[in-house]
Amino acid sequence: MIKSKQLNKPQLVLVVDDQEINRDVLGMILEDYYEIIYASNGIEALSQIEANRDELSVVLLDLLMPEMDGFQVLERVRKDERLNSIPIIVLTAEKNAELRALQMGAADFITKPFDMHEVILARVGRIIELSEGRQLISAAEYDRLTMLYNRNFFFEYANRIYNYHPEWKMDAIVMDIDQFHMVNDMNGRDFGDNVLRLLGNEIRAFLGETEGIASRFEADRFDIYCKHYDDYPALLERFQDKINAMSKGASIRLRMGVKPWKEGVEPVLLFDRARAACSMVRGNYKSHLMIYNEDMRMREILNQRLLNDLRRAVENHELKVLYQPKYNVQVDPPRLSSAEALVRWWHPELGMISPASFIPLFENNGEISVVDNYVWVEAARQIAAWRDKLGMTIPVSVNLSRVDVFDPALEEIFDRIIEENQLSHNCLKLEVTESAYTENAGQLIEVIERLRKKGFEIEMDDFGSGYSSLNMLSSMPIDVLKMDMAFIRNIEHNATDFRLVELILDIARYLKVSVVAEGVETEEQLAMLKNAGCDLVQGYYFSRPLPPEDFEKLIIKEKNIDRGNQA
Ligand code: C2E
Ligand code: CA
Ligand code: CA
Repeated sequence: MIKSKQLNKPQLVLVVDDQEINRDVLGMILEDYYEIIYASNGIEALSQIEANRDELSVVLLDLLMPEMDGFQVLERVRKDERLNSIPIIVLTAEKNAELRALQMGAADFITKPFDMHEVILARVGRIIELSEGRQLISAAEYDRLTMLYNRNFFFEYANRIYNYHPEWKMDAIVMDIDQFHMVNDMNGRDFGDNVLRLLGNEIRAFLGETEGIASRFEADRFDIYCKHYDDYPALLERFQDKINAMSKGASIRLRMGVKPWKEGVEPVLLFDRARAACSMVRGNYKSHLMIYNEDMRMREILNQRLLNDLRRAVENHELKVLYQPKYNVQVDPPRLSSAEALVRWWHPELGMISPASFIPLFENNGEISVVDNYVWVEAARQIAAWRDKLGMTIPVSVNLSRVDVFDPALEEIFDRIIEENQLSHNCLKLEVTESAYTENAGQLIEVIERLRKKGFEIEMDDFGSGYSSLNMLSSMPIDVLKMDMAFIRNIEHNATDFRLVELILDIARYLKVSVVAEGVETEEQLAMLKNAGCDLVQGYYFSRPLPPEDFEKLIIKEKNIDRGNQA
């Protein structure tokens, strides 16, 4: 709502100070520009504010006064819905009081003894402008749910603290809730709101103990700008404990990213980095706290570079596909059965980049389908080339990312690839990681079912690394289970691990799906898996992923065994 004060009348300013000399000084500074009224203590101030609430543009409020002090006035005004849009600038000589006043909702502060006139005028003018602009767009300063600042005001205040007190060591903390949409989906929005409210309360309690300000930046993201703190693990635990106590059973995980204070780094940048740190927590099941460091800065620079270079890389064929063989180990000698296509990036300046460095990055920003499409096309072309040249068709598995599965054009893409190379569908196998099955399972299963009906074989990749339960497994449309490498690593030394592998093999037999063991490196691992009835083995024991010219030699060797058998 636009107030009458904007219609060219001089704006009304209330000056509250118990010292006459201070009232006079401020009056003198401001009188040429504003209409001024005065109060000499908190009680008078409140009645003036009340009486002039529709006209007041700003209140300049002394904090230390007899009877009712400035903090009490602030609190009363902030709690009163009719008054709380009137901006208040506090007047104080005490450094620590400023921040407390800001936390309590003061719009700004002016330090005593009074600064230069220009500074005071500028601040008063700016606050009025800000508050009128704010009323124009009728944005609320606070988030209703948590009573923390909303993002614009938060940054306005953070910048102010930074500019007025560059010497204060303020850290940036970003916190959010892992898979908050799931929390909402599974427990309802009201429950989700309660979680956010609780977190807001606890953040405000924390800010009562240290100094700082906080905001609910959006949905479930909270930003905290506070004096440097030493024990972030303890802080995260404190918030997490609160949530656990309330959410009994529903497991809700907080994530926290911190960018500690650094001289000359502005709040916006500080928070960008805290955000980056927070997002790196994703997928890390051990720690939910990340403190930004130089490695991450380098990593960010590299990521940006890779994102910029991707399109060019595709055009220039810098992406290369390697093939790692899978062997059938239930025959003697083991026979080459198929391959997995694994991508590498030969960057002209950075050298060979492993997929672990760029796949997760592109998965996050959606570019992954560019890479995957490239690999699918290339792998299909290669299958056909070997078939034509060597007279042998080696099926190849390609990796699908979660985003691919939800691409409406997916089936069409595969149809075209198959058609162009005159392949039968079962030559191209599709690996879908287990974790994709647990998110949005319904839609995924539908898509996979359709692909299977066409004749594609589906492999569930990284089985055992995610959360899919065994009873889910029976309803999943899959043809092959790829046991996660982590299972294989210790089977020689750890009986429990080997029991697990045997159990998975039992279940697979029961479900009539075959099993690939990945990451098999030693002869002993191979022997154990073979005895336990595992069909297929992939791993360094047989071969690393190979360029096509080298893989070709394996095919030729395989053909020679065939000939030997026939002779
Ligand atoms: P993945 O699909 O689980 O692939 C298996 C990874 O294990 C490969 O790493 C492979 O080189 C490695 N590996 C194979 N045998 C052994 C072994 O005996 N010991 C050890 N320690 N490692 C072994 P790579 O090629 O670095 O790929 C890493 C991941 O990147 C893949 O994991 C896959 O998730 C992803 N990826 C690779 N290519 C593509 C692609 O074209 N598209 C998509 N979406 N993801 C891909
Ligand atoms: Ca794979
Ligand atoms: Ca895997």
